[in-house]
Amino acid sequence: MKVLLSGNEAVARGAWEAGVKFASSYPGTPSTEILENLVRYPEIYAEWAPNEKVALEAVIGASLSGKRAIASMKHVGLNVAADPFMTFSYTGVNGGVVIAVADDPGLYSSQNEQDTRNYVRAALIPALEPSDSQEALDFTRMAYEISETYDTPVLIRLVTRISHTKTVVETGERTEKEKEPEINPEKWVMLPAYARKRHPLVIERFKRLTLFSESLEINRMEIKDTSIGFITSGVVYQYVKEAFPEASVLKLGMIYPLPQKLIREFVEKVKTVYVVEELDPFLETEIKAAGIPVIGKEVFPRTGEFNPDVIRKSIDRNYRPQTVSFPGIPERPPTLCPGCPHRGVFVALRKAKIRALGDIGCYTLGAIPPLSALHSCICMGAGVSMEHGATTCGMERVVAVIGDSTFFHTGVSSLMNIAYNRSPSTVLILDNRTTAMTGKQPHPGTGETAKGEKTKPVMPEEVAKAFGIERIRVVDPYNVEEFIRVLEEEVSEKEPSVIISRRPCTLITKRPDTVYRVDKELCIGCKRCLSVGCIALKMEDGKAEIDPLLCFGCGICAVECPKDAIVEGKR
Ligand code: SF4
Ligand code: SF4
Repeated sequence: MKVLLSGNEAVARGAWEAGVKFASSYPGTPSTEILENLVRYPEIYAEWAPNEKVALEAVIGASLSGKRAIASMKHVGLNVAADPFMTFSYTGVNGGVVIAVADDPGLYSSQNEQDTRNYVRAALIPALEPSDSQEALDFTRMAYEISETYDTPVLIRLVTRISHTKTVVETGERTEKEKEPEINPEKWVMLPAYARKRHPLVIERFKRLTLFSESLEINRMEIKDTSIGFITSGVVYQYVKEAFPEASVLKLGMIYPLPQKLIREFVEKVKTVYVVEELDPFLETEIKAAGIPVIGKEVFPRTGEFNPDVIRKSIDRNYRPQTVSFPGIPERPPTLCPGCPHRGVFVALRKAKIRALGDIGCYTLGAIPPLSALHSCICMGAGVSMEHGATTCGMERVVAVIGDSTFFHTGVSSLMNIAYNRSPSTVLILDNRTTAMTGKQPHPGTGETAKGEKTKPVMPEEVAKAFGIERIRVVDPYNVEEFIRVLEEEVSEKEPSVIISRRPCTLITKRPDTVYRVDKELCIGCKRCLSVGCIALKMEDGKAEIDPLLCFGCGICAVECPKDAIVEGKR
């Protein structure tokens, strides 16, 4: 059957067709929809895990039990899962395992644009990279065969354009595959005596995989004009075909290990060969290390997302790219939604002149003007650990800010450190009852599983209490005055404290009947209300105005008005 699928949907479909029984993931753009689609197949147990490390470890357990399994995550998620990832290479699999990882060249929704391919080199794990949704499905199916034949997890590397672009896919049937559980301590207990014996096996496996890649049909030469050629993979293959339709191409479906003989053969046939790849010179480094002469990052950028124009321009310095401009359309930076409960927290922090060490989620937008009330963002959980380091070193009037989903992801152990070391820190947990930024996925605090089943919610205040933290406050962020009062009390305390800002995200809240409006008689046009950064507010003829269709009735802007000109009304 032919259907239109995104790359993420196709990976999920490929896993289902391959007989996968177990899937685990943590949401993160651009990989979220892989698990969201796996959830729809009744034959697959699919779950959101609190973080990527837990997801991958659960998948390893499913493999040991004999089931085929998949873990999916975004590139920075693999940092969190790197610990089991590296040693999983040693144990190998029982049931086949695919780890689908989506990179974000151009940083559309990430804190960095690291290249996942560096991990497969470090772990000696084979990797496939699809160029469209059909390949995303086919490569996923193929990856399970490679996984079980070579006793290795297999990584499917995606990028945003492949994950989110829909192309036509021919689907297949599901094949059930299952093995007996594998109880073999020498293979699965990685203490030094056993691990020492596994490492040479991993290197041996790598050599066999290299031989295998030479004859693999997904590594293919397309010989046309032999004066210019490209070695490429993934979505960049599509850009090359568009930019240089007559050039020769060596398209690599398996990106690690590389078919060095095939590459050499291609380079011998073609006069000038470019290696074109987004982000790091991964293929290029491997090829040049084998002594094969190619041109790579000498001409192509090492950052950002490519397109056909980038490739043309990089090769031909005289090439003039065609730019499409839309006159009159101003750039709009991302912003918190009208009524977002996080807005009240940032207005309170700003008014109290308290610095905030942040984390990743919608609330990171609190760093952007006009709110400008968040002062760091490194990785998930980092704000809480940084708060401990900063306050222990004497920094005053500083708090940590972390969302509920992120708290369960990696904030828990950071808070445990604060409690254990009796740090004079104040941690704000912004509990909006969902994983908002990636599209309202449930998490351990919501009381619901990925399949929509009810479960026991884990409450952040109970976690903090279990750690021995005595100062725990729960505050409504719409009540800015109360929030400031609680903040002042807690930052002046010299013991660990937690403030839970609790109000559900507007995406999971019924629209209230109350909206706010501006009394034009009272408004003096000072624009202070605009400093809360709500898109429902604008200036019209020198006075503030609120769009009643956008207003969510939070009343935060009214807190900033010196003339009490912003008043409650009915929709
Ligand atoms: S206009 Fe004011 S009351 Fe309405 S949603 Fe925006 S900040 Fe809240
Ligand atoms: S803060 Fe008040 S007085 Fe100033 S522009 Fe806004 S509504 Fe008008």
